[in-house]
Amino acid sequence: MPGRAIIHTMRATILHAPRDIRLEDVPTPELHTDTDAVVRVVASCICGSDLWPYRGINPVPAPRRIGHEFIGIVEQVGSAVSTLRPGDFVIAPFAYSDNTCVHCANGVHPSCENGGFWGFDDRDGHLADACQGELVRVPLADGTLVATPGEPPPEHLPHLLSLSDVFPTGHHAAVSAGVAAGSTVVVVGDGAVGLSAVLAAKRLGAATVVAMSRHADRQSIARSFGADEIIAERGEDGAAAVREILGGIGADHVLECVGTAESMAQALRSARPGGRIGTVGAPNGAELDLPTMFRRNLGVAGGVAPVRHYLPELLRDVWDGTVRPGEVFDQALPLDKVADGYRAMDERKAIKTLLTL
Ligand SMILES: [Zn+2]
Repeated sequence: MPGRAIIHTMRATILHAPRDIRLEDVPTPELHTDTDAVVRVVASCICGSDLWPYRGINPVPAPRRIGHEFIGIVEQVGSAVSTLRPGDFVIAPFAYSDNTCVHCANGVHPSCENGGFWGFDDRDGHLADACQGELVRVPLADGTLVATPGEPPPEHLPHLLSLSDVFPTGHHAAVSAGVAAGSTVVVVGDGAVGLSAVLAAKRLGAATVVAMSRHADRQSIARSFGADEIIAERGEDGAAAVREILGGIGADHVLECVGTAESMAQALRSARPGGRIGTVGAPNGAELDLPTMFRRNLGVAGGVAPVRHYLPELLRDVWDGTVRPGEVFDQALPLDKVADGYRAMDERKAIKTLLTL
């Protein structure tokens, strides 16, 4: 492009050590193969799972790029990219994928034979940029990115950004648990994913959704997402409250959105005999009590959400305003304040922080 300044560095977020996070200059990404795209990030955000290395729960042996959610505008595409062109507004799932291998065809995109995760080298040894930065090189662009029908108005951005991870992850919990029209649902976890799971269960037609939450701000979002009842109790008291609301037997479907031993135990004891649990909380001490599952005929399914698989369907409802999943963002900061965003989420002063560029 004649006359256009060539930028050799861009700003991106680097986690140096626990609680030491900085925005720094890094090399500007370039196309490496003909299936790549380079996307200018319009908005990114901080995930609950970013807090694990931030808090040192996951070790940080060396400084690393961080962030796995973004929406943006395509700047460049390789010669083999056929579904995207510069100027397209796109949503990126938290993992990239070819959308053609057997696992993608089965709807299990996080297991893609050629895919991978942001912030790490791809199979050719080139960095797939992490997403809390100005630009991202996207491997397998056709199989990864989904373009919106047009340029979105600014008020659409939080809802579109939620399609990168939290809303499809909540949806995956509901799908994995088999939520169907008229059924009863309990959601364990009131973080951004748990709240998204409330919205997803309602969208799938659940008759009664019970959200387990002890925080007034999160309860209020759960209500706005369609929760019919809120339970603040935990443990056996919580399960007793669930049974009292749900016909004395417990829930048809339980959406486990935390990943701890306590949350999984809460999920198992909140389900009715024969109930199904959808789990999307990355396991952090969670274990399954197989004797209880056997005795009560409980089923558990779920895992890493295949965001790319769900994106076209969920985008339609977000685009036309049927659902507004971006309500989970309760803080928005410019990218230069990324460290403040991590601190706010670490201290539970924010549910989920959106980063604008
Ligand atoms: Zn694949």
